[in-house]
Amino acid sequence: MATNWQQLRAELPQLVEQSRVIAEEGEVATYIPGLANSPKDALGISIFDIKGERITIGDCGIGFTMQSISKVFSLLLALMDSGEERVFEKVGMEPTGDDFNSMLKLELVDPGKPFNPFINAGAIVIASLIAGETPAVKSARMLDFIRKLAKDNSIGWNEDVYSSERDTANRNRSLAYFLVDNGILEEDVEETLEVYFRQCAIQVSCANLAQMGLLLANNGFDTETGEQVIPRHFVQIVKSFMVTCGMYNASGEFAIQVGIPAKSGVSGGILAIVPGQMGIGVVGPALNNKGNSVAGVHLLARLSEQYDWSMF
Ligand code: GLN
Repeated sequence: MATNWQQLRAELPQLVEQSRVIAEEGEVATYIPGLANSPKDALGISIFDIKGERITIGDCGIGFTMQSISKVFSLLLALMDSGEERVFEKVGMEPTGDDFNSMLKLELVDPGKPFNPFINAGAIVIASLIAGETPAVKSARMLDFIRKLAKDNSIGWNEDVYSSERDTANRNRSLAYFLVDNGILEEDVEETLEVYFRQCAIQVSCANLAQMGLLLANNGFDTETGEQVIPRHFVQIVKSFMVTCGMYNASGEFAIQVGIPAKSGVSGGILAIVPGQMGIGVVGPALNNKGNSVAGVHLLARLSEQYDWSMF
């Protein structure tokens, strides 16, 4: 059912304010020092429709780092650079039920291959499959890809968040060494982590996410330019992962409450897609215990219910 934009424009301000209150129940991520000062009760949303309707409301002026949302796009780039066969030699296609930075299954399951590309272990391997001679070249290609999809050449890295994550990432470093030992990661640990931390530190706005989401909602085809920017099959792959693993070990609950492909990050961002209809970007830095924006998830659940967005 097509969304009634007149009604959406009228109701959205109130829905945002009602969800903002829920932010109190969450906490801003502090394990990356550069994220610790994010505004806890901020909430903003951008919705871009395929027919050209756009709305941006709430605290959308704040820039935030992509964090795990970048995993959607590094997977796309790795698929385009290295091909599907190589990618799935290195990562699986299944949810884990564990925390996003869990080490558990790398030791429990033979051959110690990450279950999917959206947990940290999987995304670290995926970073190694992006083409480029050096980490700087790979990172620059990733940034260019994001700029192209978001149609915004001013997008850059947040250097403070980047260096604070790099300097404190004991857990991700352990995951990477484990992956080398398991024969899964074949590149240098520090070089691979540099690419991974840089992709996580790309700073965007809600509107940037909505624009990128719109392209995914339209199966990689840009209606403005008539260009198939990303092969349709690769978009289908990432949308499937967004449904099954996009909200980490709360993906099942999110599928029931919201019912659309989405990917969250610990900065409080959420990229969501109403397939065939719209791209959505949300920011709300206070997180629940699964690492997802509390107010952001609440707002998406309200919207999905109100406007019948669930795919199921
Ligand atoms: N950079 C973060 C990390 O590796 C990304 C995790 C996330 O957003 N859930 O821990």
